[in-house]
Amino acid sequence: MNQRPNPPMIPFIDVAAQRRRLGGAIDAAIARVLGHCQFILGPEVRMFEAELTKFTGARHAVTCASGTDALVLALRARGIGPGDAVICPSFTFCATAEVAALVGATPVFVDVDAATFNVDANGIAGAVAAAKSKGLTPKAVIPVDLFGLPADHGAVAAAAEAEGLFILDDAAQAFGATFNNRRLGTFGHMTATSFFPAKPLGCYGDGGAVLTDDDEMADMLRSLRMHGQGGDRYDNLRIGLASRLDTIQAAILIEKLKIFPEEIEARDRIARRYSEALGDVAIVPKVPPGSASVWAQYTIRVAGGRRDGLAAALKAEGIPTAIYYPIPLHRQQAYSHYPMGAGGAAVSDRLADEVISLPMHAYLDEPTQSRIIDATRRALMS
Ligand SMILES: *Cc1c(COP(=O)(O)O)cnc(C)c1O
Repeated sequence: MNQRPNPPMIPFIDVAAQRRRLGGAIDAAIARVLGHCQFILGPEVRMFEAELTKFTGARHAVTCASGTDALVLALRARGIGPGDAVICPSFTFCATAEVAALVGATPVFVDVDAATFNVDANGIAGAVAAAKSKGLTPKAVIPVDLFGLPADHGAVAAAAEAEGLFILDDAAQAFGATFNNRRLGTFGHMTATSFFPAKPLGCYGDGGAVLTDDDEMADMLRSLRMHGQGGDRYDNLRIGLASRLDTIQAAILIEKLKIFPEEIEARDRIARRYSEALGDVAIVPKVPPGSASVWAQYTIRVAGGRRDGLAAALKAEGIPTAIYYPIPLHRQQAYSHYPMGAGGAAVSDRLADEVISLPMHAYLDEPTQSRIIDATRRALMS
């Protein structure tokens, strides 16, 4: 018989393994919320926000209903809207550009760096020029810390300051990562993050937060997430949203944050092992000195023509892969009419053809890592 049954599929991200580890603690945390019934902005929300400020070093953490809302709240707090341009990379999850459009502004795309997949700060000036030529006022840049690796925040800050831009860090995939040996949360004027279940620190539903050192902006964010309220709930100062992190999710996140540093280390160990074992058969991710990734994805590059074959070979061995992202935003139906900085986005196009992500989570055991590595090597060397 040359037909072997397919081995069982391993999970791409194993949310259940962590659930088993934390089981009792999470159940008790949820039970406490069920006991006091303060489901919206209950005590666990304030406790979790305090933990977030301790963990990141930011003065303020304002939680909200999702990472997307965190970005929207930040742009709204800053007063960005119609006629304004928001510069963002083309190679990212759609929410980065979506939020600019949602507040009525215009996203303007800029290319990324091939080595880090993150925004190429050298392109920011060209995007500013493109925005001005369309009669828009360049107001903000949203660097993304893609796949868990911080963007080059030094270069982004320099380019943004030269153009007077507000910097909103989209750290939805990179909560806990470090740049210049400091955790994300204080680079740029505001940092948005997500607690979507598949992100490095995920809850059991949707959740997000904005981090900032700016007292006035923090007050504004707290007002905006509660329908633009003032001193009390029926005093409405501005148009806002209903966007809070549920108390139950905050209670879950408090428990998960306790083991998060350990999980970051586990992810990093796995990523190092992958890179050592695969560096001669694929382009493996490089982490610049002073930075640490939280490995939201472990993404390699293979020549475009070989990617489908690799994905199929791994699938046949029960190993799932994913393509983040197969189509850069400037080629998406919803976004293709928005402006692009001078120089275009050739790197984003190339990455979309070459990237493939391997299973990555803190509970991926060594035998499974070996299975993934061996199968990847076999597929790429055949
Ligand atoms: C996940 C993600 C978001 C949005 O977060 P949600 O919590 O899913 O709304 C924004 N930007 C990037 C880069 C993301 O990966």
